[in-house]
Amino acid sequence: MYLTGTMQFNEAGHLEIGGIDVVDLARDYGTPLWVIDELGFRQNCRAFRDAFARQGNSLVLYASKALTSLAIIRMVNEEGLGLDVVSGGELYTALEAGFPPQLIYFHGNNKSIDEITLAIDNSVGRIVVDNFYELSLLSDLCRAKNYTQDILLRITPGVEAHTHEFIQTGQIDSKFGFTLPDGQAMEGIKMALNSPNINLVGLHCHIGSQVFEMDSFRQATALMMDFVVEIHNKLGYQLDEIDMGGGFGIYYSAGDDPTYADDWADAVMSTVAEKARQANINIPRVIVEPGRAIVGPAGVTIYSIGSWKEVTNVRKYLAVDGGMADNIRTALYDAKYSAILGNKANLSPQEVVSIAGKCCESGDMLIWDIELPAAEAGDLLVVFATGAYNYSMSSNYNRLPRPAMVLVNDGRSDVIIKRETYADLISNDIIPQRLKAPR
Ligand SMILES: *Cc1c(COP(=O)(O)O)cnc(C)c1O
Repeated sequence: MYLTGTMQFNEAGHLEIGGIDVVDLARDYGTPLWVIDELGFRQNCRAFRDAFARQGNSLVLYASKALTSLAIIRMVNEEGLGLDVVSGGELYTALEAGFPPQLIYFHGNNKSIDEITLAIDNSVGRIVVDNFYELSLLSDLCRAKNYTQDILLRITPGVEAHTHEFIQTGQIDSKFGFTLPDGQAMEGIKMALNSPNINLVGLHCHIGSQVFEMDSFRQATALMMDFVVEIHNKLGYQLDEIDMGGGFGIYYSAGDDPTYADDWADAVMSTVAEKARQANINIPRVIVEPGRAIVGPAGVTIYSIGSWKEVTNVRKYLAVDGGMADNIRTALYDAKYSAILGNKANLSPQEVVSIAGKCCESGDMLIWDIELPAAEAGDLLVVFATGAYNYSMSSNYNRLPRPAMVLVNDGRSDVIIKRETYADLISNDIIPQRLKAPR
């Protein structure tokens, strides 16, 4: 279901999160508003951390691309997780939040020299090397600094996760990683082992996102472990870490059937242990990198409903005060969401409507065909599971200022990302001298 963490309906018939009525949140902070349930977020961190810890030597990283900010990173650190970053900007955010660099894993298929330099100058724990070019670049940069970097090699194992094709990354035809089936991966391993100032610690893969079938993880883990064993047997080199990426699926709408953190931990870790035992090698430490599954369900977006339009015998559109600028996933991936009227949570659904954004783009839709109670202007539409890949993929399209983000817990609310202002929108604009109006 869509109610998770501290979300519940109160006596007024309103939705409440972190002990606060969404009507109060909308009044105090305006809409659109992103709300993060602190306890829900922390509970999700603990669920994955503990599920994997129960099964053995492991480290859960929070994939910060799902949602990052200084406050978010602080909580991740307090909950004892490591961190996955994929750009200089995400790395900078983590460092500014005081996150321990040794617990940071740095991904990316085209890291720039500046980004790699930022990473090695701050002693990040691992750089996840994606390709031959990066391997030689990293080796050169480290040698110039007389520094040795621990790395993982990103492998494309050739497993298809049963998910939307735009967000599949484990199949062979992918821009990411060293391909396993065609021998590139073995070449990459040999090159890494022969590269000065590089310490190859292990392997990484990421088979996709919003994955529900634990068999996909089992298969991918088995393929990766077979490769660990092959490296051991052919090259006499024992890898100490195997990072199976993120991708654990969550509930967005009817039909989504997520499983438990323990099932994921079991699928990955029992496969690792079994393969290691069969081959008589050491059991490598297991790393996983959930992003969506930690922050997605902990976030909601509150919108105000404004105009509406009925296309006779076709559909009724209800428009909200945000849209693809704050949540592009419906337009981009055909993503589905659940929503309710937060101020009429006790009323039964009465009509099927489609929720449109306010951007100048026909594809700017948030939800197609959802049942809601009769809505009028000023009602609050609360969209669930918007914690992940909403703020982090947001834009200023149509020069919409980004909404604020509020962290709620036990009746307390704090802004963790300020609402952008019109002044913010032009703050990086420059008028060249020659365009300045003559006076
Ligand atoms: C996107 C990504 C993740 C996180 O994926 P989720 O679906 O948010 O869990 C983890 N690792 C890598 C390498 C990724 O690209």
